[in-house]
Amino acid sequence: MGERDAARPRDWEFADRAQARADGADGPPPPAPPLCPHCGRRGERRATYYGAYVLLEPGPAVPAHLVEAGQRWYVDGGGYAWNGAFDEPGRGARCRIPHHLSCPALVLVDGWAGSGAEEPGRGHEGRAAGAHDGT
Ligand SMILES: [Zn+2]
Repeated sequence: MGERDAARPRDWEFADRAQARADGADGPPPPAPPLCPHCGRRGERRATYYGAYVLLEPGPAVPAHLVEAGQRWYVDGGGYAWNGAFDEPGRGARCRIPHHLSCPALVLVDGWAGSGAEEPGRGHEGRAAGAHDGT
């Protein structure tokens, strides 16, 4: 989108935003309803310690070792959610999954991670044609 924020964030806010992006904490903040912006389903919104919100999939926690690293969320006694990142879950640990993993409106496509890269050697078609006009 690229529009500027009305208020310029402070340095720690940049760090928090980077952390939120890395963790996938992309839930709508209150007072917006805790609805997925993609499919409209209601998630269980939890605050994180860095000020962002995550929409967790409602329902019971699942065995953490079944969930991909980086997608394991835990809710502590204070109700805050935190991402277990790439730490190996403890034996018998259970975790929550973020809604975006099961969102019916989002599809993970093959090569998603590399989608920003352009194929080298492309983009110069159209120069060779049209070179022979005057004889
Ligand atoms: Zn959704």
